[in-house]
Amino acid sequence: MATLRKYWHDVDKATEQALLDVIKIAFAINMSKFYEGDDFYVQRIKSMYVRGIEYNMKESLQYGKNFFESVIRDTGNIPVKLSKRDLQLAYNRSMIITRGYINLVVDEFAAEVRVMANNMRALDMKKESIITYFSGEQRENRPLFSRFNNRIRKIIDDGVDRAAAFAYHEGMKRQYASQPNVQFTWVAVGDKRTCPDCRARHGKSNLYNEWRTIGFPRAGFTFCLLSCRCILVPEEYVDDELDLSKPLVRKTFKIRGGKLYQD
Ligand SMILES: [Zn+2]
Repeated sequence: MATLRKYWHDVDKATEQALLDVIKIAFAINMSKFYEGDDFYVQRIKSMYVRGIEYNMKESLQYGKNFFESVIRDTGNIPVKLSKRDLQLAYNRSMIITRGYINLVVDEFAAEVRVMANNMRALDMKKESIITYFSGEQRENRPLFSRFNNRIRKIIDDGVDRAAAFAYHEGMKRQYASQPNVQFTWVAVGDKRTCPDCRARHGKSNLYNEWRTIGFPRAGFTFCLLSCRCILVPEEYVDDELDLSKPLVRKTFKIRGGKLYQD
């Protein structure tokens, strides 16, 4: 029997691996190419990030599927079958969003580097000093670079969570498509990053169609927007290991000095 705790543990593991993969990319960026406004290079960096998260997102889909199946089995039912194609669709949908965020953040970072460089040039700073400055920001993970790095970290974290959540959601949607009277309970993680909206929704039960109006977890209807880490479980589901009135605590990852730390 898989449990919420196991599910979140697996997803966190995939997140950690994805982060370890992408930190290397961040610190290998050639800052002078950003400074020069080399768009081809900027595109390449985006693709590298996408490739860096691909594998772990796929792994995460499987965790979402497994968790869906175990929840259904625990309620005494037989889970509907999610085919490879179904999972591919969930992956494509979650990747479109993740890629959109990667594009946004890399573009903004590249634009910020250029704006800052223009300012330095307006003040007659030497070109070599400007490049040295940017490289130093990157090497020492100082404000300009750490802001970028933290945003990337969040995107990777969300991306891995999203893949699992989409696979899980797809399963639930199909499983209960012909049973409109099933109530679903909102489960929040409950750590210090949980937003006030999600905290308030924790433990509340509604019909699937009502949640479609109120907003599903990670639909963006909550303060945490698309970073929501909540999940809906059928009301009849009882996790042996977990009292749903006591929220879980999930791992958080931080990047400091080019290394990954857990809080
Ligand atoms: Zn939430």
